[in-house]
Amino acid sequence: MKHDAEKLVIVGSGIGGLSSGIILAGLGYDVTVVEKNRRAGGLLRSYTRDGMECEVGVHYLGSLGKGQVLRKFFDYLGVRDVIPVTPMGTSGVIDRYLFDAPATHPPQFDLPVGFDAYENNLRKAFPAETSCIENVVAAIRKSSEQLHSLDALYATEDFSLLDQTEPYGDILDQLGCSPGLRSVLAIPSSWIGVSIADCPAYYHNMALASYLSSSWRLEKSGAHMADVLVDRFKALGGKLITSAEVSSIAVDSRVVGGVRLESGEYLPASIVIGAVHPQVVLRMLPDGAVKPSYRNRIKRLENTHSIFAVHARIDADTHPEVPHNTFKVETDVDGNITDLKYYQFRKNKTENSTLLSILTSGNDALWEDWRDSKTGRRDAGYGEAKNKLASALVAEAEELFGPLKRLKMVDAYTPLTIRDWVNSPDGSAYGVLRSSSQTLATALLNRTAVQGLYLAGQNVVAPGVIGTIMGSFSTVKLILGPEEFRKKICL
Ligand SMILES: Cc1cc2nc3c(=O)[nH]c(=O)nc-3n(C[C@H](O)[C@H](O)[C@H](O)COP(=O)(O)OP(=O)(O)OC[C@H]3O[C@@H](n4cnc5c(N)ncnc54)[C@H](O)[C@@H]3O)c2cc1C
Repeated sequence: MKHDAEKLVIVGSGIGGLSSGIILAGLGYDVTVVEKNRRAGGLLRSYTRDGMECEVGVHYLGSLGKGQVLRKFFDYLGVRDVIPVTPMGTSGVIDRYLFDAPATHPPQFDLPVGFDAYENNLRKAFPAETSCIENVVAAIRKSSEQLHSLDALYATEDFSLLDQTEPYGDILDQLGCSPGLRSVLAIPSSWIGVSIADCPAYYHNMALASYLSSSWRLEKSGAHMADVLVDRFKALGGKLITSAEVSSIAVDSRVVGGVRLESGEYLPASIVIGAVHPQVVLRMLPDGAVKPSYRNRIKRLENTHSIFAVHARIDADTHPEVPHNTFKVETDVDGNITDLKYYQFRKNKTENSTLLSILTSGNDALWEDWRDSKTGRRDAGYGEAKNKLASALVAEAEELFGPLKRLKMVDAYTPLTIRDWVNSPDGSAYGVLRSSSQTLATALLNRTAVQGLYLAGQNVVAPGVIGTIMGSFSTVKLILGPEEFRKKICL
């Protein structure tokens, strides 16, 4: 069925905007995606520096195996065959966690593919904690079933996860889990930017299950993945306008009318989807468009931390690609994570070179002096501050991996870079904080108080590629209604 009269505008071309666009264009809507940057893709889009392809928001993907959730999504979107991926964990390791707390922690723990292998590794590392391990793995298996069967998406009523919103840290306390085991179990919640003490069990278990089910690296790049999604969207009749920042959303008597661009151009639409942070959408709404209670709820949302990243070129003969990721984990005496460094060694398109990527928390205070400046317009002092932190992180990496031969710094980005690139408040990496304390405030974020206005993107259901695409389907379900959604969307 064609929706000739239904003009639909999506603000933002990240994975949230593009996947929503593909689904809705495929259903026959007249869809336009509007993107402020010159190129589409948002956090998905990698960039090239000094001949090296540097990733931003896709280091690895979970659940692309047969019958698994991301594969179902990619199949529906019609992009699986054109996004080549390599399986991780074939040598037994997806992620290697390194600890330096010999009294309480093993020196290293390997996250493998598969639930049995994970349970075995936990039992080997923590032989005295069999009962706790059985409990946690049983819950992760259950979450895995819910994730791959898409129960939440197809529920006709609001799917209640209230029994799984308890902070995961509390559950581990009740199970009498040791600090060492707690740290190992704390890492998956850090993938979505939440501390284990405040991470709802549901999010923890889903995040972990998605990677344990199967893990993959893009064979090409995030930029390639973004281009594939754009091509698919256009092939379905979608229109993409880039270098076009949306400045306001028109609302009359609580009904949406369209969007206005910075250039002054007006795009009328009966449906608008803000696939950007809800606080960004709020700033676009005219005074009085929503009730003060809604405005306050969105304004007060707490966001996840940002990230500082370094990309460095190293000699490929001495440092070939490493097929797993490495995390250096620092913890307090209770096993809560106090600092985390992520390392990835990947072959790159430039000959004889491996790209070392290091990610850590944003170190926000370091960038305070440049808070009011924009990317590309910062002084030399900013570059020096970046280099100083980047050099310290490289030195720390050398303590773990040995001297890094022929190292050349390629690029480093800060929370301010992320903020300016995608408009994420304070450069928040994973958007709205999915914490137990914010359970109610973050519920049903894809609904707004304006008729015809919806939200999508990583903020509405969960961050990450899977969580963000899940959010797109759940927004489409709101637009269609649950019955139509069931009839029209078969995943
Ligand atoms: C460093 C980092 C590493 C990550 N690693 C992984 C990983 O390995 N695996 C994984 O699954 N996930 C990972 N993630 C998370 C994942 O990248 C994100 O959850 C996802 O890409 C978010 O997509 P989105 O569409 O919601 O938002 P975005 O990608 O932020 O897209 C929003 C888009 O809206 C545009 N926009 C904003 N305001 C306007 C406006 N006014 N007008 C027009 N356009 C506008 C922006 O320019 C942007 O293109 C990572 C994230 C980060 C930051």
